[in-house]
Amino acid sequence: MSEHQKEYKNAWTTYKEEELKALYAYADRYKNFLSNNKTERECVRTMVKEAEAAGYRNLETLISENKKLAAGDKVYANYKDKSLILCCIGQKSIEDGVNLLGAHIDSPRLDLKPNPLYEDTEIALFKTHYYGGVKKYHWVAIPLAIHGVVAKKDGEVVNITIGEDENDPVVGISDLLIHLAKEQMEKKLGEAIAGEDLNICLGTIPLQGEEKNKVKANVLKLLYDKYGIIEEDLVSSELEIVPAGKARDYGLDRSMIIGYGQDDRVCSYASFEAQLEVKNPQRTTVTVLVDKEEIGSVGASSMHSKFFENTMAEILNLIGSYSSLKLRRMLARSKMLSSDVTAGYDPNHPTVLEKNNAAYFGKGVVFNKYTGSRGKSGSNEANAEYVAALRKLMEDYHIVWQTSELGRLDLGGGGTIAYILANYGMEVIDCGVAVHSMHAPWEVTSKADIYEMRKAYTAFLNSEL
Ligand code: MN
Ligand code: MN
Repeated sequence: MSEHQKEYKNAWTTYKEEELKALYAYADRYKNFLSNNKTERECVRTMVKEAEAAGYRNLETLISENKKLAAGDKVYANYKDKSLILCCIGQKSIEDGVNLLGAHIDSPRLDLKPNPLYEDTEIALFKTHYYGGVKKYHWVAIPLAIHGVVAKKDGEVVNITIGEDENDPVVGISDLLIHLAKEQMEKKLGEAIAGEDLNICLGTIPLQGEEKNKVKANVLKLLYDKYGIIEEDLVSSELEIVPAGKARDYGLDRSMIIGYGQDDRVCSYASFEAQLEVKNPQRTTVTVLVDKEEIGSVGASSMHSKFFENTMAEILNLIGSYSSLKLRRMLARSKMLSSDVTAGYDPNHPTVLEKNNAAYFGKGVVFNKYTGSRGKSGSNEANAEYVAALRKLMEDYHIVWQTSELGRLDLGGGGTIAYILANYGMEVIDCGVAVHSMHAPWEVTSKADIYEMRKAYTAFLNSEL
């Protein structure tokens, strides 16, 4: 092939034994993270613990103790256990901008309604309200787990995880038997299972001595005995119904990973590890891991919230360099990888992607110059000069990369947090990995791709683009 033609490599063909070892070790760490962190709160709690062990200090503590920040210092800001910002102060002036990684830690799921618990024909159930883009038919007839918190009036917050330990029971949503499904099977796929049909089966044993709703009463007794919570406490809860079970190797050759919530914990975890790995960087490095991306990045814990900007202002202040103008300069001069997943070419569904501009398993970390739908609507389009600088960076660090669009034109589309940070004027590009079955309860990624992404993020944080 002529050197003038671009060849997108299969990363697997580039590895020697040592590198394969590092790749599989990374995949194992990531699988472990995925299995144990299925909600935004669980991600933040785990990451705060690991960040503190790596020398990161709580921004709130630094502020209250009137401490200063200097080059090499590490600090984190935790927004109510839902969003997390990590920062390592660089040698260069922070006014020159930061190298920013941003990903989201929320995933599509079923939330409980405020009044979730009811009984029907001596079966106790939870009403749910789906969160994010789900195909409802995915959620029936599979084992489900309950994760989250219940906040009590006395201020206590009870953590709940049911369905992950192998000795735990699981819960689930029944589907209609095929024998009686003639009418259902004639419905459109999007209408065959309605939102109000996604009710979680919890139990069938009546509580002795109870007058009415005996099975519901028995479920409440179980919840009270184990967690000390009563029915009204569920009003102030955030309980998330997620697929039960661990992430696993996928494929006979173990080249892939199947797990819940890889959109976008696959990028969040890589960003987090890369951020922790960086020591004494030239440019200040920042990783922001946000909630609520799947519902449009709205709300206090989302990327649209002022939490990010306020945190950066506090950090500038602790460096002794705060002014509104300096903050705005810093943001405008920053560089960002908006780290999120993209559609992987899937032989089962070949027509939805345009082959020359699709992302493929095994071909490395993916850059999406833009996302959006129709005529690039709603996208942030990265500047050509920035893309060129990133191409050079990938080449310098021998990172296998590819580029793609999110699907064939006129079929749909999607967006990420990229455009929100781009509003500051900083350089932003979408950068992540290809996924099969995105937004399904069990999503699939390639180990080679996640390993190349991990390397790309470290190279980026250490760079002076
Ligand atoms: Mn995503
Ligand atoms: Mn998503």
